[in-house]
Amino acid sequence: NALPHTINNLLADLEKQLDPDENTLISITSHFHKLVNLGLSEYGHSMAMIPTFVTGVPDGTETGTFLALDLGGTNLRVCQVDLHGDKTFTLKQRKFRVSEALKTGEATVLFDYLADSVDAFLTSTTGSEELSDQQNSVDVDSPEVPLGLTFSFPVEQTALDSGILLRWTKGFSAKNAVDKDVVKLLQDAFDRKHLHVKCVALVNDTVGAALSRAYTTGGCVLGAIFGTGTNGAYLEQVASITKLGNNPAAAAGGMMMINTEWGGFDNAREVLPMTPFDSKVDRESINPRFQAYEKFISGMYLGEITRNILLALVDATPKPILFGGKATERLNKHYGLDTEMLSLVESAWTDGANALVRAPEAALLRDFSVRLAEEELAPTTLQRLNKIQKVVEEHLGYAPGEVSLRDAALVQWAAALVVRRAARLSACAIAGIAIQIGYVTGLGKDAHAAAQRPAGGRPYAIGIDGSLYQHYPGFEAVVREALRVLLGEEIEKQIEMGLAKDGSGVGAALGALQATKGN
Ligand code: ADP
Repeated sequence: NALPHTINNLLADLEKQLDPDENTLISITSHFHKLVNLGLSEYGHSMAMIPTFVTGVPDGTETGTFLALDLGGTNLRVCQVDLHGDKTFTLKQRKFRVSEALKTGEATVLFDYLADSVDAFLTSTTGSEELSDQQNSVDVDSPEVPLGLTFSFPVEQTALDSGILLRWTKGFSAKNAVDKDVVKLLQDAFDRKHLHVKCVALVNDTVGAALSRAYTTGGCVLGAIFGTGTNGAYLEQVASITKLGNNPAAAAGGMMMINTEWGGFDNAREVLPMTPFDSKVDRESINPRFQAYEKFISGMYLGEITRNILLALVDATPKPILFGGKATERLNKHYGLDTEMLSLVESAWTDGANALVRAPEAALLRDFSVRLAEEELAPTTLQRLNKIQKVVEEHLGYAPGEVSLRDAALVQWAAALVVRRAARLSACAIAGIAIQIGYVTGLGKDAHAAAQRPAGGRPYAIGIDGSLYQHYPGFEAVVREALRVLLGEEIEKQIEMGLAKDGSGVGAALGALQATKGN
């Protein structure tokens, strides 16, 4: 029978397309490093390399109480952060939903909503009066509560407390905000509502991740986000940021956090391994041809890429490969498959173990020349597939019995391919920054640890935030696997990677602290 053979070929071909090899990873990384330098020397590149005017990272001894407002992802968060000065903090927070109407309507309406949320938070926490009493580190004459704004969109900053929105990303498109100062938009909204709150610092979420990780561990040079979107910020020598020109910050020298906006890396698509599934996601997105790298990596898109792959299997000729050729309303719906489902499938498959590190069994289960029969499977394999069947039924709206064991195996296979690719491509950015800041020279077989490590020989420390990193089983393990390919095992082992706990809130508070100390 030729059919299983045809199907296996089709699946093997997909697997090949979705699994960038070592050489691809190396050329992506070296292109990344090249664009890092281009962006440091000139304004206007899609990987924008934005100076943040945050001139250092904390060491954990900082104290004070601050408000933080975090806009940029699925939720809007308002927090009150108490820094205890011993690497610990306490945080009170409230989340607010940002509706599609707010994301895509008038900017003033969106910013009024932000101000209302802060107001609601202040009135709902008895902490509001407490807050003004405890501000020993701020001007006591000022009745205004200092607030740090975490705003995770590309903003060209001109100072710690001002920045022009370059463009919206991640599904936002509110009118009359692009080219405006977002701190002013927010402050105007506070003033319209007579709130005694002053926005003193604008902190990108990636910078926030680096700052909060530095506060809780004593040091950090790269903050990264793998959530709805992806981005990173790292500590650069001011002397290398040649585009600063006559800006007083250039003369001051020292270090500065750079917000890379790496989501926009390779918008020209010179090195990214595009497949037809990626092209479709891009074409049907609200920002075609932008955020090219992000569309391979972040939570907003991984479910959608997987959905497109599953549909291709449903529609395969001469015979459907998946779900007996039946697509549900959810599967047919644009963005109908949430990245969270990929995590659930993987968790069911791995039972907590590291599975993205390729399980040979998974490859076997997608082999159509082998019959997949309940009675022939190991009990644990059967249990896992049964769990995946349930997840798929629940999330994609199939009736019990409509998802076969093979379907379950194929969904896991497709999801793992998409997320593995995301994790491997993520490693390219991490490795590119390692070269830039001088931990390593060369790539692949030519990678060598730099003779003199930066920052007194400290390890390359990375603070990471975002659901994908936090919840997807084995994400970090695959990032590390690719880092071994790119940088060698010795260097990979010396990279510290960890969660930037409450990165946005604590980071914004630390930004506000830097502002109130006169920067
Ligand atoms: P933010 O919007 O601030 O980046 P998150 O880091 O929580 O917030 O990222 C939300 C994104 O992560 C969404 O795209 C969502 O689909 C995805 N997501 C949510 N839960 C999970 C999960 N358990 N595993 C992987 N991705 C998830």
